Amino acid sequence: MMFACPTCKQHLYGWKRVLRISAVTPAGCPLCGGLAGPSWWKVVIFVPVLLLVTGGFVVSVLSRTWVPVTGALAAACVIGFLQFRFVPLAAMTAREVFVHRVLLVVLLVCSAGWITYEVLK
Ligand SMILES: [Zn+2]
Repeated sequence: MMFACPTCKQHLYGWKRVLRISAVTPAGCPLCGGLAGPSWWKVVIFVPVLLLVTGGFVVSVLSRTWVPVTGALAAACVIGFLQFRFVPLAAMTAREVFVHRVLLVVLLVCSAGWITYEVLK
């Protein structure tokens, strides 16, 4: 299973490499030098899957059976595989990668500050 570079359309990324691609760790194409990152469609797909799993968990707790949460997790695995297989990589610019890295640092600093505040109060 090979995935295409979004810039030059050559199939050169293996599935193990694609699993490690994120907005802060894009893949650099060895042929054209273009950056390949995750598509925004993955975020669009992730939100309803999160709601599905949360809803399955709530229904399981209320009905005291494992069936809803098990079914929701199985459906999430199937949807996750389908989006991994069929949603193509997206071209990214170095500026977009920089913005994502800055936002990650801001998120980590804010999280550390919030945890410190909660521990010390
Ligand atoms: Zn390329």
